[in-house]
Amino acid sequence: MNVPTLRSFIDEVSDKPKLILDYIEYIYEKIEKVEPIIRAYITVRPKEDIIRDAKSVIEKMKSGNGGKLRGALIAIKDNIVTKGLRTTCASKILHDFIPPYNATVVERILAEDGIIIGKTNMDEFAMGSTTENSAFFPTRNPWDVNRVPGGSSGGSAAAVAALEAIASLGSDTGGSVRAPAAFTATVGLKPTYGLVSRYGLIAYASSMDQIGPICRTVVDTAILLDVIAGRDGRDATCVGTRKCNYLEEAIKGLNEGSTAKLVVIEEMVSESVESVVRRSFERSLRKLESNGFLVDWVSEPIVKYALPTYYIIAMGEASSNLARYDGLRYGLHHKVEGLSWCEVYSKVRSEGFGKEVKRRVLVGTFVLSAGYYDAYYLRASKVRRVIRDRIKSLLNQYDYIVSPTMPVVPPKLGERIVDPLKLYAIDIDTVVANLVGLPAISIPSDFVDGLPIGFQVMGDEFSECNLLRVSSFIESIFKISPTAPSWVIK
Ligand code: GLN
Repeated sequence: MNVPTLRSFIDEVSDKPKLILDYIEYIYEKIEKVEPIIRAYITVRPKEDIIRDAKSVIEKMKSGNGGKLRGALIAIKDNIVTKGLRTTCASKILHDFIPPYNATVVERILAEDGIIIGKTNMDEFAMGSTTENSAFFPTRNPWDVNRVPGGSSGGSAAAVAALEAIASLGSDTGGSVRAPAAFTATVGLKPTYGLVSRYGLIAYASSMDQIGPICRTVVDTAILLDVIAGRDGRDATCVGTRKCNYLEEAIKGLNEGSTAKLVVIEEMVSESVESVVRRSFERSLRKLESNGFLVDWVSEPIVKYALPTYYIIAMGEASSNLARYDGLRYGLHHKVEGLSWCEVYSKVRSEGFGKEVKRRVLVGTFVLSAGYYDAYYLRASKVRRVIRDRIKSLLNQYDYIVSPTMPVVPPKLGERIVDPLKLYAIDIDTVVANLVGLPAISIPSDFVDGLPIGFQVMGDEFSECNLLRVSSFIESIFKISPTAPSWVIK
């Protein structure tokens, strides 16, 4: 069997629904082989349950009522709630939490006959860029198992890269879909803030959180976005503006090409970008230029402040969102007799939260506190506004802002986690899209010494139709995806 994409899977099983069962065998064989090393999943559903679901999809298809996803096995990040299926956020505080309802994105996948194969590992509460902050275990990068897969949706990306799922969903607050996509040679899209419902996404920083697909190709990403995007009355921020069929646009990009005016912000390719990454990025730009793209460079000094601005806002919002884990309503709990509310609250949280989460709750509480609000949170909100104005005005002159997705090649396990500032530093090129609310995609562009490099394209709000068309064309120029490591394919 060739490395399956979501599109090839759908094409193939449409005529022969029974093949869905062969795909299930194929994927469970991969899981058996690679999962002991990669550890992409926190929970994998038993194969018998999946086969049962598949059989009912096959029946529906035979009667002509099959949905768009036709029994494709989709992995879901463990901060997206799934009814009756444990959802931990990779935290001890939610280690035994069984949600009583499905997130809207999960409902939509099920409505189109997707099958949820399991819940993927992540940085605890999506705080991190390497998946090493999981309270359970780190996930490894299928391209080099001594390296991290990126994060925080590292399990979702690794599962797709290691053929343990056909496609997956992650969440992206400051790069968590794009970073692991870049590090695993997969495609990751963070949609415009407000395009995809966050109902049932466990909140990290609510003004920036978005759910996005991680897939093997741009076309696959479009297929999944078609399923999950759109207005939802249960998420007031989800306006869901949609103007096209994403799949048709992505296919158009492949077949007809689609050029655009691109701009590089110098501050996004500065000293903090490793020289191998910069050289690879420049090679990618030359390829695009020789295919009719126009590339300009500009300086936008305010962009230097995107990273600290992001971390102040993200931590402030996180400290507020995480206040709900009180050990009384759900998750980890303790005997409460004889203890005051404060004692229970602090006992549960001291035991339940990991080091990085505690750090962020503390810093976040500080930046929101009465005496420091003006100096930190309010000031960061103002800088955010200036960044937004500058970026929006650039997008009036150019179609897309491009950069390397990550300033580094995938780090070795343990390399970045030692120093939080070193860890935060690798988010410089991804956080801008979240601060401004824009869509951004990471496309596999190169391998350097066997390690994947991602190319980021950021567009204007709700420009996903054009973005996916251009991205498909760009992907066909780079000629990397779909791909998978040879030890996994064998
Ligand atoms: N690495 C960033 C952080 O730790 C982004 C995480 C995310 O997008 N969820 O906040």
